[in-house]
Amino acid sequence: MNNIYIDNAEKVLLHTYNRYKIVLEKGEGVYLYDSEGKKYLDFAAGIAVSALGYSNNDYKDALKNQVDTLLHTSNLFYNKPIVKAGEYFAKYSGMDRVFYTNSGTEAIEGALKSARKYSYAKYGNNRYEIVAMNHSFHGRSMGALSVTGNVHYREPFDPLIGGVKFADYNNFESVKSAITDKTCAVILETVQGEGGILPADKEFLCKLREFCSQNDILLILDEIQCGMGRCGSMFAYQNYNIKPDIMTSAKALGCGVPVGAFAMTEQVAEFSLAPGDHGTTYGGNPFVGAAVAAVFEQYEKLNLTAYVRELSDYITQRLDEVVKKFENVIMRRGMGLMQGLVLSEDTPVSKVVEKAMDKGLIVISAGQNVLRIVPPLIITKENVDEMIEILKTCL
Ligand SMILES: *Cc1c(COP(=O)(O)O)cnc(C)c1O
Repeated sequence: MNNIYIDNAEKVLLHTYNRYKIVLEKGEGVYLYDSEGKKYLDFAAGIAVSALGYSNNDYKDALKNQVDTLLHTSNLFYNKPIVKAGEYFAKYSGMDRVFYTNSGTEAIEGALKSARKYSYAKYGNNRYEIVAMNHSFHGRSMGALSVTGNVHYREPFDPLIGGVKFADYNNFESVKSAITDKTCAVILETVQGEGGILPADKEFLCKLREFCSQNDILLILDEIQCGMGRCGSMFAYQNYNIKPDIMTSAKALGCGVPVGAFAMTEQVAEFSLAPGDHGTTYGGNPFVGAAVAAVFEQYEKLNLTAYVRELSDYITQRLDEVVKKFENVIMRRGMGLMQGLVLSEDTPVSKVVEKAMDKGLIVISAGQNVLRIVPPLIITKENVDEMIEILKTCL
């Protein structure tokens, strides 16, 4: 058994996770292999990270090449790879300026600081409130936790940053009533991930965009999980024909190399962070620059967003069949290759996930009782069929 590795892990690693008793060792395409050689079809992608699957040769070559050239410089100097990564990011996000971070939670910190600084520069120090959503998830650092709409995650760490109010997602009146003349920003996920795979309603998001514009309140969209092609466009907000003022990315942005980003329009940047306001030692170093640029190159080469749109019709059709057939599956929610099956109360999602892993399928959970399906974006229709067959035997 894997017990030596697991026992050793439990001795040295801080116990912040109840992990599945699987030691993953190798990946190839959309399959993972554990330390005993057991093969798994991966429909979790390391929590929506490994969009290109595993062991993509062009991507690996780009990383190896950068390892041989230069890993790190600090931000006291320019480096070439991060400029290329920045140009790609601007091209595909519609944002004008980007700051590379080392994680999603740090991208959120940067977004919050950007909004506060913008408002401070334009209106002085009394316009600092941020409206966030119930059931949201934005990360584990103190600032990101402050806007995460889950009391369970927040409570042990109070007091967090002040001036945060919560409203109901997809309820414009609720958000509007949380906004005061002190509000500087509204933050939300375009598609809620950890909260249970819930896309923003079109009318809600468009109304909110308009209201924020009218009142010079910054709209921050967290695209850390739903972005990078997963929803059928490079960023999910592009499906709504709107643009945020500030947005965040991470997860699939590096496809395994730890990197995040926050980006903004020129109108925001003009009043926002200036030299001395923000920084990072590692962030945007040549290695992650090469990784991000290689990821965007692969998306172009594989025409990945169009591929996701094509596959999304198929996966939704197959999942809808499951909803129809099984009484313990209440509904399907999601967008593109970010899908959730809401299970009935008598069917604990953890049991379904464990059964699936026994049978060689990796899926994960989200929210109250939602089965989360966030595969690598390179899966085929045959992989979807394989997943559906295993899932049926687990339900
Ligand atoms: C994962 C996630 C984060 C946090 O990212 P980390 O890299 O884990 O810090 C923030 N927002 C959303 C929507 C996420 O899914």
